[in-house]
Amino acid sequence: MREHRPIRGDVAPARLGPDVLAKGFADIHPPLERHEALVESDRCYFCYDAPCMQACPTSIDIPLFIREIQSGNPIGAAKTILESNILGGMCARVCPTETLCEEVCVREVAEGKPVKIGLLQRFATDRLIERGEHPFERAAATGKTIAVVGAGPAGLSCAHRLAMLGHDVTLFDARPKAGGLNEYGIAAYKATNGFAQAEVDFVLAIGGITLQTGRALGRDLHLETLRADYDAVFLGLGLAGVNALGAEGEASGGSHDAVAWIAELRQTLDLSQLPVGRRVVVVGGGMTAVDAAVQAKALGAEEVTLVYRRGREAMNASRYEQEIAQTRGVHIRCNLQPRRILADGGHVSGVELERTRSVDGRLELTGETVTIEADQVFKAIGQTFLGEGLALGEGLASEGQGIAMERGRIRVDAERRTSLSGVWAGGDCIADGSDLTVVAVEDGKLAAMSIHEALGVAPGLLARAADAVAGWVR
Ligand SMILES: Cc1cc2nc3c(=O)[nH]c(=O)nc-3n(C[C@H](O)[C@H](O)[C@H](O)COP(=O)(O)OP(=O)(O)OC[C@H]3O[C@@H](n4cnc5c(N)ncnc54)[C@H](O)[C@@H]3O)c2cc1C
Ligand code: SF4
Repeated sequence: MREHRPIRGDVAPARLGPDVLAKGFADIHPPLERHEALVESDRCYFCYDAPCMQACPTSIDIPLFIREIQSGNPIGAAKTILESNILGGMCARVCPTETLCEEVCVREVAEGKPVKIGLLQRFATDRLIERGEHPFERAAATGKTIAVVGAGPAGLSCAHRLAMLGHDVTLFDARPKAGGLNEYGIAAYKATNGFAQAEVDFVLAIGGITLQTGRALGRDLHLETLRADYDAVFLGLGLAGVNALGAEGEASGGSHDAVAWIAELRQTLDLSQLPVGRRVVVVGGGMTAVDAAVQAKALGAEEVTLVYRRGREAMNASRYEQEIAQTRGVHIRCNLQPRRILADGGHVSGVELERTRSVDGRLELTGETVTIEADQVFKAIGQTFLGEGLALGEGLASEGQGIAMERGRIRVDAERRTSLSGVWAGGDCIADGSDLTVVAVEDGKLAAMSIHEALGVAPGLLARAADAVAGWVR
């Protein structure tokens, strides 16, 4: 570690030398070599009614793709994966497989050692994406146009499926780059070497999708105009707002939004230039909190403490993610709720927290306080839907009244139709969104199929589109 001045309120760049920094941000799950993939694929029982497949939100035919790898056909395996999930490459890197497919794998249940489904998926999809070819062809042009707003996993998945079905898609995003949180949010050590951008290029290579970045709904685009100009609209807006801590001192610049900080980190070309505190506190119990804490440590923070207001078992971060945090030197402290950020003119010296306890499932404050010294405080306590440009309202459901909301997000039906005709939505911005990449991809896919059906394309074209869908894996 480089020499550094031991001062209070110490937020500084270049805490670590390039080698240590590179090690901290290296691929968290290095890819399998060919022989490792063959050995691992041999462990699969190719179960009938495979539980792993049922646990996958995008219903990837997992036994089939593993068998294709086993028989020496990784490209065929990749096509099997991408047919169900066009962002199968990113999902192989970021899915919490330990709580999805691998949790229910019969080898996990029997031996506590699941087939490494995520790594096998990555093995196959990497091979195909590296070839620089797009595996699917577009169906005959339908003449229909669709506006997809938001180029995150939901929007990309929707746009790709619509383009494949022969529609022309304009994909809008407010940010300078497409990819959504794949580009701006996922921890750097999960998506290394510019994979998010490579995957966007791969998705767009289907053709028929025009990407327009720097175009925000509510600022440059208006829903009514989009509805008038396009045959259908899909909203994949994600969650742009952040919850407030409600702690004293928060408004005086004492704490920072972890998601915004991670976005900055993901866009920083030279990580040694990103300042980090010597002592960092992250408030939250989910994946974002773990990612912020682990990356602060990897940047060279000496003490990183993750504080969560409930018990360990209530944390949204999986047990596996908690283990990653701990093995990388993050202290996890539970039953602590921030009361005051100790800050003077934006210069932070610590956080005062109050101990909590659960009584009959309810959280109670105990009155006992604890102070943790810190130079930098990040809040990662959940995001909120902002919905600029939409005439929103809880309970509004009829035409002309705007889009109906439910629990602060867009209400949709099973096909991801909103209350407003001609408008679909999916991903984090919808009610019941699971805030997982793979679920957003599935939402986009379901919405695209529903839009396709609603557009009532001529029967001949529909049949050809259906043939194209059936032939995607040929
Ligand atoms: C820090 C962090 C780490 C995460 N890590 C994981 C992980 O490891 N594994 C996992 O499965 N999930 C993870 N998630 C959750 C996952 O990233 C999201 O569930 C997923 O990205 C949702 O996709 P989306 O398309 O709905 O939204 P987003 O990815 O947020 O994309 C929404 C897009 O819409 C654009 N947009 C927003 N408003 C407008 C507007 N008004 N006009 C035009 N464009 C607009 C945005 O710029 C963005 O590109 C993480 C989330 C965060 C915050
Ligand atoms: S549950 Fe496990 S063993 Fe069975 S098909 Fe899925 S990966 Fe293979």
